Amino acid sequence: MLSFFPIAMAFFLFIYEYRNYRLLKKARFLYEKDGVKYYQIESEEDNAITIKSVLYGKNIVIVGKEDFRILAHEEGHLHQPYFIYYFLTISALAISYNILTIPFLLIIYKAMFLHYERAADLYAYYNFNVKYSSDQQRPNSRTERLKSWLFDTHPPDYIRTKEEYYEKKTSLIKLFLEDLLS
Ligand SMILES: [Zn+2]
Repeated sequence: MLSFFPIAMAFFLFIYEYRNYRLLKKARFLYEKDGVKYYQIESEEDNAITIKSVLYGKNIVIVGKEDFRILAHEEGHLHQPYFIYYFLTISALAISYNILTIPFLLIIYKAMFLHYERAADLYAYYNFNVKYSSDQQRPNSRTERLKSWLFDTHPPDYIRTKEEYYEKKTSLIKLFLEDLLS
């Protein structure tokens, strides 16, 4: 059923760019620096979202206050490939071929995000000496730990603050397995 591919691809692209459009529309334009447009959304909690889009270019949406530490991480994302588009293409191909590939796509999606989030953390650390800070404690329950790996957009906070996390030679899979098995 590869004839379904263009439809799936168009649909995914539409959803993704529409989400970008909504975010940028909601945000207030601040300034442009080195080809990157900076926007801001008011919020109590400080964060940021990087949007690298073929339609909208490179953008950073600052959520809450502008924070050097958060921007160091986002700059890491700016240097990464347009991985969302690769993922959308692979997904459109896979589901046109067989809808039962969806669980595998979800695993790839999760692994891809964890990988690129950690890469952005490493970028912030090696270029700006910024480590993620959080006082979140490691949950005692294994189920709770698994849930933070599965449902957070980033690796769990208590992992992102560990020394080992910033050692390039330590793979994320190793940290994940150690966290679950110990
Ligand atoms: Zn990030």
